[in-house]
Amino acid sequence: MLLSIVIPVFNEEAVLPSLLASLLPVLSSINYDYELVFVDDGSQDGTRQQLTAMAAANSHIKVLEFSRNFGHQAAITAGLDFASGDAVVVMDADLQDPPELLPEMLHAFEQGFEVVSAQRITRDGEGVFKRSTAAMFYSLMQKAVDKRLKPQVGDFRLFSRAAVQVLRRFREQHRFMRGIVAWLGLKEAIIPFHRAPRAAGTSKYPFWKMAAFAWTAISSFSALPLKLSLYGGLITLMIGFFYSLKVIYEALTSSYTDQTWSSLVCLQLCFNGIILVAIGLIGEYVAKIYEESKGRPLYVVADAMNIGPHIAIPDRIGWLCADNPKPTKTQSETFSRQNGIPADAVTGRNT
Ligand code: UDP
Ligand code: MG
Repeated sequence: MLLSIVIPVFNEEAVLPSLLASLLPVLSSINYDYELVFVDDGSQDGTRQQLTAMAAANSHIKVLEFSRNFGHQAAITAGLDFASGDAVVVMDADLQDPPELLPEMLHAFEQGFEVVSAQRITRDGEGVFKRSTAAMFYSLMQKAVDKRLKPQVGDFRLFSRAAVQVLRRFREQHRFMRGIVAWLGLKEAIIPFHRAPRAAGTSKYPFWKMAAFAWTAISSFSALPLKLSLYGGLITLMIGFFYSLKVIYEALTSSYTDQTWSSLVCLQLCFNGIILVAIGLIGEYVAKIYEESKGRPLYVVADAMNIGPHIAIPDRIGWLCADNPKPTKTQSETFSRQNGIPADAVTGRNT
């Protein structure tokens, strides 16, 4: 049986050596053959060189290099597209998703679960702000997107081959993998774990990226914002109607008193604001339809290593590499020397 591990990476040069050093012993302790599918999401630091060296040293390491930063969700998509395992695990590069959980996840997979999700029961090393915004995010998502979404479950999950094949059929541009998984209704096992702080480097998810991610999640999975603007419109219409009745009544009973222009200006501004927000929301959805209708690739692969010469390139991707280049041996030797990792660990002679 083959286990694929999909790892999206963006500027992770600081953490890659410790990732490999933690992951490989776990992989050698389990009864599966393995492949690591690294997806370099347009890194600007030394990540690319490190991955090239790792792939040269260990043929179990597949690498896809994006032409630029396409985002975490696109990188996961690419990894799933090119993973060939019987079971496929998606995990972050920063060791916040502990490799030690793999045997337990595989055990659940062997029991027949199609998806095995790791649930964060603690989140050490994350500030109050990140934890509270994350809690808000999960509760909002459950209400707005899908009540089947599991709280505190990120992208650290194992999928059966059948589940991966179904996931590959989702070729939408604005992706929220957790929503897709919830929507599918796969037979799911949950494994709780303690989320450690990042092993090295800094978070690649600043606040603005998290906010954009939350908006993608809501707007690509639910029409709730449109419904809210409709309800808001109906409520203001009712208020306007009853207020007009009051004005007419006062005019008829001659108790009408002039209310000055300022109240009119306030009303005008409020209603204009509401209308513009509503138009903006509709615009967001129209823009999504427009982008989807162009049918652009979900990501562009500029370079690939150890993918295999006869891969079937999936639908809706850009493929810039003519063949499957093999990096030189010298690069792998330099990598193990520079990072103090035994050559055996890098070459993966444990299989
Ligand atoms: N990542 C990525 N593309 C991005 C941002 C992040 O591939 O645009 C990767 C990153 O390298 C890491 C994973 O996604 O492996 C999760 O990112 P990070 O750990 O920075 O997020 P956090 O845990 O802080 O939410
Ligand atoms: Mg992280």
